Order: sequence, then structure tokens, then C-alpha cells
Amino acid sequence: MAATGQPTIEVPFYDLSALHRQIRPELDAAYRGVLDEGQLILGAHLARFEQAFARYCEVPACVGVANGLDALQLILEAFGIGHGDEVLVPGCTFIATWLAVTRVGGTPVPVDVHPKSCNMDPAKVRDAVTPRTRAIIAVHLYGQPADMTALRSLADEYGLRLIEDAAQAHGARWAGRRVGGLGHAAAFSFYPGKNLGALGDGGAVTTNDPALAESIRRLRNYGAQVKYRHESVGANSRLDELQAAFLHVKLPYLDGWNARRAHIAERYRQALATTPLMLPWVAPDADPVWHLYVVRHPERDRLRAALTDAGIETSVHYPRNPGDQAAYAHLPIDRARLPVAQTLPNELLSLPISPVMTDDQVATVIGALQAVLH
Ligand SMILES: *Cc1c(COP(=O)(O)O)cnc(C)c1O
Repeated sequence: MAATGQPTIEVPFYDLSALHRQIRPELDAAYRGVLDEGQLILGAHLARFEQAFARYCEVPACVGVANGLDALQLILEAFGIGHGDEVLVPGCTFIATWLAVTRVGGTPVPVDVHPKSCNMDPAKVRDAVTPRTRAIIAVHLYGQPADMTALRSLADEYGLRLIEDAAQAHGARWAGRRVGGLGHAAAFSFYPGKNLGALGDGGAVTTNDPALAESIRRLRNYGAQVKYRHESVGANSRLDELQAAFLHVKLPYLDGWNARRAHIAERYRQALATTPLMLPWVAPDADPVWHLYVVRHPERDRLRAALTDAGIETSVHYPRNPGDQAAYAHLPIDRARLPVAQTLPNELLSLPISPVMTDDQVATVIGALQAVLH
């Protein structure tokens, strides 16, 4: 304990500065390259990153946009989803998944999550479908891919668009295939703290559908493919040259960073399997990327306080579901249909996990948890 009574931080949740120090010379060179060339918006760095990220996701097309929320919103707009339309969303997710739906004038209809995966439960989809349902947004929460096999066949059966919210899952695989190409379109975020993060805001849409990619390209740039010829009511939502250049530097490191996350997750699993904690579950078809390592315990607040006292930063993703936020007080939400989603916010605890976390720091977290759970 420091003299102030505040414990010194032994294990930060994610030390992004440490990550950037490792590749500082390359980031500096990327910045100088963009500045020397002078093109700052819609230039060669964006085109090059879009190609590289499409290849990484094993899809033909990637379109860079301003952030993950815009990526989701532009996909919905490109599919013509708006007023009067319902979109199925998980009851537990970051609010952006829902915001994209309401920003286009649609209605988010929550589907309960699977008690083990915390992702949308395919078995609960049928009850949520109505004649107004147009799409499903499947979130790969915490870097664990949703059950895309089951969701794809449900989407096909009901004629729905299947959209991936892959903001937390860059590089994850489901049944051997990368997320980003498992539905009709996918949204990525490059918010700095994501597995692949820019040095500011950024996002992308990936898809197997070249026509959809062209629609998104227009929508992100004032609805124009050719300057001053506006074919649709577009937005200004572009991934700028600097962020594209930084992301192009970082992309070749992503698999290594994800492997380090997986190594830490495996150490947690081995050390904590015999404790009363409920550990993350990995579906048989899933190859996750461990954006977060989320455990569950009925006395979450007590555990969290003990870890804080030991100098370990933790977080909660998320302390309140979108449907319980004041922003959505006007939505008629049938909470009886969301029994799993209703209990999760009180039990979830995100332990530190990141590519720059050291073996000693992992041991510190494990030791502190074992001590408090004895
Ligand atoms: C981060 C995130 C978003 C939004 O991405 P931004 O780039 O912050 O707009 C959307 N969905 C999920 C699940 C996220 O974690």
C-alpha cells in the first residue's frame, strides 16, 4: 500500500503505451510517410490497408470507415433497413450494437444469450422473429465467435440478413473460417483497445459481396463514387490515411498478439479450473482471440475489491445491458425472455489480458484470486 492508501498498480488492465513502444520506430515511419506524401483522406494507405485486411479476413472486400458503430450503421443502411424494421440483437453486448439499429430508425429486439458462451443463443431466435424482422446482428463477444452455423441456417430459413459485429474478434475463427466473412457483412472497430487498434478511432466493413462493398464505399463518402455526383444519402465516415498507415504497421503483429492472449488464457484456465469461478467456455467450433477474459462469480464485487487492493486492475463488460439503459427506457423489452442476460451483469468480471502482460503479472493475478477464493 502506498502512503495515500491507494494501492500501486501492479497489473494494469491493458498497458497500450507498452504495446506501442515495441513498434515505435515503425509507427514513426508511417506517420512521416503520410506527412511526406500529403494525401490525408482516401489515398493509397487506405487502399493498401483495405486490401491487407480483406486478405487477413479471407474475404474479397474491405471498406475502411470512421469507427465500428458507423460500420454497423452503414451496413444496415446499405441493406435498406430502417423505420418499421426489427433487428435481432443479443441481450448482452456493448450498446453500439443496439445504437446502430436505432440510429437507422429500426427497432432492436433482444435475444437471450447462451448461458455458457454469453453470445446470442440460436435456440432463442425463433421466438423473437416476427414478420417485421429483417436482420440478425451476431456479436462475437469477448473475442469468442458466435454460433455462426446455427445463426446462418436460421437467417436463411427466415430470409434475414446476417451481420457480424466483429469489433472484439479480429482474427477469430468459427469452423475454421475467419470472422468477417461468415455472414452477409461484418463490422470491425479499430478503437485503440481492440485486438487490432488504431491510434484513434477507426472501423471497417468486410464482406463477400462486391456490390455491398460498393454501396458502403459510396455511403461512407457523401453517397458519391465520383466527386460531386451523389447517388445516395451518404455520410462522412472514412478511415483516414494516418490511421490506415498505423493499422497497416500493426496488422502483421496481430496473430502474434492474439497468440500471446491465448497463452495467458490457457494459464488462467489451468490455474483457476479448480476454483469456484465460472471460466470462459470455448465452443467446439470456436477459435477465439481473447479480447477479454471474463469470469463469473456471484460475489463479483467482493472479488473485484480484493483484486483492486492487490494492485490488479479489472473491469466489467458490461455492468448494465443495453435494454436496461436510460437511453432505451422507451423500448418495450420483455425481460422474461432474457433470463440469462438479466443475471450476467452482476456476475461478470474481466481479468487483465493483453499482448504486453508479463508472465509475472499473470502469476500475480492467479495468486491474488487463489488467495481470496482459497
Ligand atoms: C467497440 C465496439 C463497437 C463500436 O466500435 P467503435 O469503434 O467504438 O464505434 C461495437 N460493438 C462492439 C461489440 C464493440 O465492442
